[in-house]
Amino acid sequence: MSYTLIVAEVRRGVFEERNLDSLGLGALLGAQSVLLVPDGAYQVPDKFVDAIVKVKAAEEVYLNPMNMGRMLEAAFAAKGKPDNILFTQSSSGMEAAAYAAGLFGMPVITDVSGYDRDAGIFLKSYYSDKVFGQFKTAGVPAILTVRSGSFREFAAEKTAAAAAETIDAAAVETRTFVEYVEEEKTDIDITKAEFLLSVGRGVGNQGEVSGYEELAGILKAVLSGSRPVIDKMWLPKARQVGTSGKTVKPKVYLAMGISGAFQHIAGMKDSDCIIAVNKDPEAPIFQYAHYGIVGDIHKVRDKLKELAKG
Ligand SMILES: Cc1cc2nc3c(=O)[nH]c(=O)nc-3n(C[C@H](O)[C@H](O)[C@H](O)COP(=O)(O)OP(=O)(O)OC[C@H]3O[C@@H](n4cnc5c(N)ncnc54)[C@H](O)[C@@H]3O)c2cc1C
Repeated sequence: MSYTLIVAEVRRGVFEERNLDSLGLGALLGAQSVLLVPDGAYQVPDKFVDAIVKVKAAEEVYLNPMNMGRMLEAAFAAKGKPDNILFTQSSSGMEAAAYAAGLFGMPVITDVSGYDRDAGIFLKSYYSDKVFGQFKTAGVPAILTVRSGSFREFAAEKTAAAAAETIDAAAVETRTFVEYVEEEKTDIDITKAEFLLSVGRGVGNQGEVSGYEELAGILKAVLSGSRPVIDKMWLPKARQVGTSGKTVKPKVYLAMGISGAFQHIAGMKDSDCIIAVNKDPEAPIFQYAHYGIVGDIHKVRDKLKELAKG
């Protein structure tokens, strides 16, 4: 049978919404679609696929890439080898996709966010969507990881609900899932702040951060930071702005000692008013700033405190 195998992701007993994008791309690819899910008590959208294969495995076991390899082998035994395998573009989806690509010698295209059906071309993003690459598979079965939010509108209802079959797959305990750890809850949500004072590596050391905290308090701003500041644990993770942190859009974004790497810019470029302070006049942040001060941030900090205190 010619078919697309859609590997669904389930978290804490919930069929993840991002799977709908894999269902949508599956529909665009045109072949029959088979959904692979761990067996469990949750709702599976059985009207959007032609068949369902349930694996007898807890979701944590299912997410282990080595087990996933065995489950895929079991699914192939039940349904034959698929034309393509779709994973979600999530950290576990990418992990499992990479392992499966190596195991089965299949080409992989990650972060697929577009598909030209006539040309058979997949679109994938580079540099936080600054550039897109177009890819074709060489007529061989491929593995694709599907970007969340890209294809869900193409998921098409079938006339009847898909039949499900349950399979066994021998699992190995190559790593043991311990527990899910919630993001630390804080009363501060930087995405809601109207005025963000964001500090970068330019602050120099942890001891200096309290001076910026004090300035933020005086200015009625919320303190956030670039990734190095969070990696060094000078500020909590919830305060990070950028592609691997939060996207913010405050009325005022005051960046002090931040160079303006694109991963940072992507998270704050839509702020209403960007003010940058940096000692390097060539720092890329100035290309995005409405106002800029070339100078030492500590001096500017102290001057601002002085002025604000009046
Ligand atoms: C996959 C990936 C994801 C990433 N995600 C993020 C992310 O979410 N957010 C993020 O911020 N980064 C992210 N990064 C890191 C990013 O590439 C940059 O390394 C980072 O943004 C640099 O932070 P910075 O500007 O604070 O430090 P630097 O680039 O080191 O810049 C420090 C700046 O401070 C200035 N400076 C130094 N001392 C002074 C002084 N006394 N007075 C005035 N200016 C001074 C310097 O001139 C310099 O411009 C990511 C990288 C990768 C690979």
